[in-house]
Amino acid sequence: MTAETGRWIRNFVDGVFVEPDEDRGFDKVDPATGLVFARVHEADSSLVDRAVAGARRALDEGWARTPVRERAALLRRAADRIEERFEEFVAAEIADTGKPVTQARELDVARAVANFRSFADVVAAAGQESFLTDLAGGRQSLNYAVRKPLGVVAVIVPWNLPLLLLTWKVAPALACGNAIVVKPSEETPATATLLAEVLAEVGLPAGAYNVVHGFGGDSAGEYLTSHPGIDGVTFTGSSATGSHVMKTVAPRVRPVSFELGGKNAAIVFDDVDLDEALTGLTKSVFTNTGQVCLCTERVYVQRSVFADIADGLAERARRLRLDRPTDERTTTGPLISQQHRNKVLGYFELAEQAGAKVLTGGGIPQLGPELAGGSWIEPTLWTGLTNADRAVREEIFGPVAALIPFDTEAEAIALANDTDYGLAASVWTNDLRRGHRVAQAMNVGMAWVNTWFLRDLRSPFGGVGLSGIGREGGASSLHFYTEPTNVCVQL
Ligand code: NAD
Repeated sequence: MTAETGRWIRNFVDGVFVEPDEDRGFDKVDPATGLVFARVHEADSSLVDRAVAGARRALDEGWARTPVRERAALLRRAADRIEERFEEFVAAEIADTGKPVTQARELDVARAVANFRSFADVVAAAGQESFLTDLAGGRQSLNYAVRKPLGVVAVIVPWNLPLLLLTWKVAPALACGNAIVVKPSEETPATATLLAEVLAEVGLPAGAYNVVHGFGGDSAGEYLTSHPGIDGVTFTGSSATGSHVMKTVAPRVRPVSFELGGKNAAIVFDDVDLDEALTGLTKSVFTNTGQVCLCTERVYVQRSVFADIADGLAERARRLRLDRPTDERTTTGPLISQQHRNKVLGYFELAEQAGAKVLTGGGIPQLGPELAGGSWIEPTLWTGLTNADRAVREEIFGPVAALIPFDTEAEAIALANDTDYGLAASVWTNDLRRGHRVAQAMNVGMAWVNTWFLRDLRSPFGGVGLSGIGREGGASSLHFYTEPTNVCVQL
């Protein structure tokens, strides 16, 4: 079984790849070159119906009741198989996104493997709460909750870290005995499709993992979220789409898990180790061309080190190497699409109109004829903006940050928390107490001290405000992907 027939990327429904309908295809463009490399079969509503029905059947025929140790073993086999087919996943991830090969290997595909292994461990070790209650007359009752799979779960994911974010949901959902219907981003259909092969190879029953391709509104995304047969939605994407999905599922009162946008702050104090902070900030602003929900777009710097940090970061930004994704020396890929580049360029314009000084970047790089059609953009840094400017308030999702000075700790906390988002923050200081204090004061789901994007997969991941609802990771994922039935026994 292979995912592609010629240049088609196909839907995977109820255990089989569906032959494409020539009239329902859309082009998949390589973001590095702008060239079309495949056609994607857009699922219509009847195919989404079949996927949901197949998922329900898989649950009813026994997948939901599979012993936990068997599900954990299957997840481990999936991790092993991704490792065996590692370079195929790397190639699919690069084709989808144009990201550098080193990143695809070290971050995206490596994390997919870790996601499966981690949730195999988490589910195997999970326990149950119970309460022994004293009753009048000396008797007792025993309360315990059995956790059952949520059911058929719609998994909707974005394009920025497509395989990493997909497996972050697929692994715990399957670990808990759910059947899932995945709708990858229309920009990045390849890895979810390849994962279908792997899960079938390691023995996942037909129907437990389905992939339907397409867009959001009036396409596979909406057919899926509005489907009466789904029992919950786990969604990662923009806050605007999250809000739309919430309205769609509201009439049927289905649970949602939302990992949405961010406008993340870094706070840099003047006691910091400059070199270490600059290395960390460079990563946090520019990883994946700034297209990570956790990326820093606001850097607040204590005034006495402002010039050092601004000059140092600009110097490091200029050293980033934008080049072909397959070149091992490339550090930075293109944006995902021309459409997204236009959005980012729109913020470049807004920032300059608001009086930003461009420390570096601000335009489109010239990378030669092979890459001329790609959606490349220069890593960019601004000073001279304030929290009142749109470029500092709205998520840009590109390799760009505004540097803003502050004087006191209280001012830095107020500036960082002055946002409608609440996903992540990082604090850079050599003062241990201050590091803890300021990190705890951040109104976010995740705060780092002297690091960024360092993850223990058992810890809660998610945001507050416009950044989301709920947490995933470790026990938080098990809670979302299961429903408890409490049993009370009078003893
Ligand atoms: P997006 O919201 O445009 O799309 C996300 C997914 O939703 C895609 O698969 C899309 O096809 C689908 N979709 C769009 N409209 C839909 C609808 N009406 N009904 C159902 N599905 C629909 O987001 P994007 O541009 O793909 O991704 C970038 C965004 O994702 C950024 O805002 C980023 O911050 C966010 N993000 C958040 C996290 C996190 O963990 N918090 C992680 C990665 C990305």
